[in-house]
Amino acid sequence: MTIEEHYRARHQRSQELYERARQHFPSGVTHDARWMEPFPIAVERAAGAYKWDVDGNRLIDYWQGHGALLLGHTYGPVVEAIQRQAARGTHYGANHLLEVEWAEEVKRCFPHVAQLRFTSSGTEATMLALRLARAHTGKPRVVRLAGHFHGWHDLLAAGAEGSPALPPGVLPSVAAGTVIIPAELASLDRITGTRDDLAAVILEPSGASYGKQPLDDTFLRHLRAICSDRGLLLICDEVVTGFRVAPGGVQQRSGVQADLTCLAKILAGGLPGGAVAGREDILRRLAFGDRTWNEQQKITHHGTFNAHPLAAAAGIAALEVVRTGKPQERATKLAAQLRAGLNRELRARHLRGCAAYGDASIVHILLGSPHSFPPGEPDGDIPLVELKAGVPAHLRRPFRLAMLNYGVDLMKGTSAFVSAAHAEEDIAATVAAFGAALDMVKDEREI
Ligand code: PLP
Repeated sequence: MTIEEHYRARHQRSQELYERARQHFPSGVTHDARWMEPFPIAVERAAGAYKWDVDGNRLIDYWQGHGALLLGHTYGPVVEAIQRQAARGTHYGANHLLEVEWAEEVKRCFPHVAQLRFTSSGTEATMLALRLARAHTGKPRVVRLAGHFHGWHDLLAAGAEGSPALPPGVLPSVAAGTVIIPAELASLDRITGTRDDLAAVILEPSGASYGKQPLDDTFLRHLRAICSDRGLLLICDEVVTGFRVAPGGVQQRSGVQADLTCLAKILAGGLPGGAVAGREDILRRLAFGDRTWNEQQKITHHGTFNAHPLAAAAGIAALEVVRTGKPQERATKLAAQLRAGLNRELRARHLRGCAAYGDASIVHILLGSPHSFPPGEPDGDIPLVELKAGVPAHLRRPFRLAMLNYGVDLMKGTSAFVSAAHAEEDIAATVAAFGAALDMVKDEREI
């Protein structure tokens, strides 16, 4: 049996459901990242490090809710908090205690935050951050780094894939609101030193796509200095890294304080939620007028589900343990074991141009790079698009299917969010699956 025949045989009910889904959704999916060929798996339930698909296969799950689940699926206190709150009402259309307690939890993790505003997603958080930055500085443009992803909205769509091409459906005038530059200090220095229309720099502080093109903390420290010198706001998009690399994200680790921080994912304990957090004088743009503040300058912000009581309840329950730093410690240790194990398998097969790498509890897999570095030791010159893709087109499908056949669901087939619910046995099983998958793929394709 080929890898694909095996996959089809193991996932017949997923295929049936996919045929139904295609009647309703373009390409049968509700998020671009969930699409795959010949069809994606459909999941029935999840617990801890695992999920079970509709055919009854158990998978070691490395999506972990697109990175939202540092504590794993169905973490007891989060489930209980959601159940308790659901019985007390899901939407009050009013202020409530949980939103205040949630904000207090966020500030325990990010102590330099003075004020915040909850949103419904990370996408909304980066939208609001840009509006705040423009209103505060009176400047129209924002610098964004090529390949850094900040959600799917129009304002930051151009450049997200690494190319400056205008994405279909985005107005050129909207895309003109950003200046896209490579993630290099020299470019940042030049552009911020020569233009006077810049409000802010926004970035994923650990590098494009949660560190697929890694940036070290020194980069962030230099960027902080450049922004402070030139009067630009620094916006850290910690939607993935916030609460994950440390309770206070990359900012805690690097000692850098952004002017605005975008949060989501772990923030809401696996439910939908986001936030923009930062300096009092900037967040004040959202405030109604008082004796010291002219309401004419207020910017608007609505959102039916902002600070949703269920998200607040889940968020508080998650952050109460996240703030201790212990889940991060455990997940980071396991991810280091996973990276080491995967690289061992690559070395054992003498596969040049292949590596496992990543920051904290995040693992990325790079296979079949034309940049022929020794197994497990990626060099610094690999182009952004290659790093973003991770696995080239000819290997992507068989590799992903083979890993699923062996019971491992990697995020988009190339990355892993390790959670505190994973165990050493899961890591060992994943490494064994990877070795077996490589051998199967090598039988069908050249790596
Ligand atoms: N920013 C980053 C760094 C992200 O990775 C994402 C989503 O993956 C977003 C923003 C958008 O968040 P959401 O999917 O909650 O809209």
